[in-house]
Amino acid sequence: MVKTNVNLKPAKKKVCGFCEGKKDPIYTDIASLKKYTSGRGKIVPKLRSGVCSKHQRGLAREVKRARFLALLPFTLRV
Ligand SMILES: [Zn+2]
Repeated sequence: MVKTNVNLKPAKKKVCGFCEGKKDPIYTDIASLKKYTSGRGKIVPKLRSGVCSKHQRGLAREVKRARFLALLPFTLRV
């Protein structure tokens, strides 16, 4: 018998934090970049973070820029 989950709510649409705040990711804003990196320092994919395609591309570029300037770590030892 196949169980169908009728009561399952539709997934809530995530809103891009950068579109909401009307600002673009920038490498000097370490606090907001850190929110979009995982515990090991990896960039969080947009399916998990809810960032739109345009801002995800900018975010990846700015995180890499910040890593090169040693503002963010490339990896974190766990
Ligand atoms: Zn956006």
